[in-house]
Amino acid sequence: MDTDTIAAISTPVGEAGIAVIRVSGPDAVRIADQIYQGKSSLSEADTHTVHYGHIIDPDSGEQIDEVLVTVMRAPRTFTREDVVEISCHGGMVPVQNVLEALFSSGARSAEPGEFTKRAFLNGRIDLSQAEAVIDLIRSRTDRAARVAMHQAKGRLSQLVRRLRQDILETLAHLAVNVDYPEYDAEELTAQTILERSRHIKEEIEQLLQTARQGKIYREGIATAIIGRPNVGKSSLLNALAHENKAIVTDVPGTTRDVIEEYVNVRGIPLRLVDTAGIRETEDLVEKIGVERSRQALDEADLVLLLLNYAEPLSEEDRKLLQVVRNLTAIVVVNKTDLEPQLDLQEVKESLQDIPLITTSIKREEGLDRLEEAIADLFMEGRAPSADATYVSNTRHISLLKQARQQVEEAIDGIQSGVPLDMVEIDLKNAWQTLGGIIGDTVGEDLIDQIFSQFCLGK
Ligand code: GDP
Ligand code: ZN
Repeated sequence: MDTDTIAAISTPVGEAGIAVIRVSGPDAVRIADQIYQGKSSLSEADTHTVHYGHIIDPDSGEQIDEVLVTVMRAPRTFTREDVVEISCHGGMVPVQNVLEALFSSGARSAEPGEFTKRAFLNGRIDLSQAEAVIDLIRSRTDRAARVAMHQAKGRLSQLVRRLRQDILETLAHLAVNVDYPEYDAEELTAQTILERSRHIKEEIEQLLQTARQGKIYREGIATAIIGRPNVGKSSLLNALAHENKAIVTDVPGTTRDVIEEYVNVRGIPLRLVDTAGIRETEDLVEKIGVERSRQALDEADLVLLLLNYAEPLSEEDRKLLQVVRNLTAIVVVNKTDLEPQLDLQEVKESLQDIPLITTSIKREEGLDRLEEAIADLFMEGRAPSADATYVSNTRHISLLKQARQQVEEAIDGIQSGVPLDMVEIDLKNAWQTLGGIIGDTVGEDLIDQIFSQFCLGK
């Protein structure tokens, strides 16, 4: 366990009005006091009190900045260690100077995520809560933030703890039979264990069902925009983004790089990929176009296929229509402000269940309907409930799947009459696996890896 004292800026770096520097560790108060000048010393301060004063350069004795200092003593702090927070003026220079002063008085620069890591190691939060803090920092929409907030408050942990408790009780039931076989209750026990295991599997199943939406909130819907050159892919991307980040051009084939952009469509984060670059020139399309776009499409959660209303359906359009038929896709017929050349009926017939939207991006028509179609596809028409628990972290999802597998093995075992102590092993494994979600059963390497994803000062 680290017992040194760490410090870092904990507000976003930049020209903010106020910056907060956080110091945590056994010497936090003493170190801060060394560079602080105010009415009274911080060492005598009560816990959870705020003090006005100045930070003094320990070498020159000059005043660095005017500050408010909050003293919070363990254990009622974020890290469960002594914590001092110094609010200073926001520019880079005062912040750097205050940090330097802290470092020369014995604090060490915190690593990314180190405050949260200490909170975890000191038992203040569990691992899934710590991971939720990462999600909160990275969340791109309000809803993503709310999902993360719920997890940070421990909703997922609660559910996982209950599941583990269920498994423990089942194991206790089993142990009675394994330890006292003379009771000859094997038959009865097997039946009870089977029922309980099925119930546990169902609960895991339910959590996993929230994963699809959870992943959507967390990572966004990977969205590929495809279609022939000049059909309006970049324009659509821009229209959805409401700002000009992708390059729009009149010359076919000039959008070379794959550009990624996040947009918020009715609370759903779309990660838009302008796939134009891989398939802009006719030659390319002939040689590798459909193959390559298929590859790109494999990774997409949603495909928007654009067709040009002002041109007849081409051979390539038909190929693309064929390709998207088996994907989650929306066909967008664009440029409806121009003279129609496209046979809409032919398009409709080849679509089956895929929604068709007509737009004139130039006139800003049809975008509403497109956004609605997207929301329908991913939210099944209903707004997500604010307090539902969504499993959204890929590590959690894979642990849940593993636990489900282990419970299934237990169920199969009981049904095919294997000895109950074999079943016991499967259930113990599932209990262990679920423990990985809240960090009860994870190794140090994984903990380091998870906390290194944080940004500095958290
Ligand atoms: P991309 O090659 O598929 O990315 O197509 P762009 O987005 O670069 O658009 C090609 C050209 O079509 C540009 O000149 C756009 O201004 C124009 N364009 C895009 N949408 C529309 C539309 O709805 N109507 C008309 N008339 N022109 C459009
Ligand atoms: Zn383009």
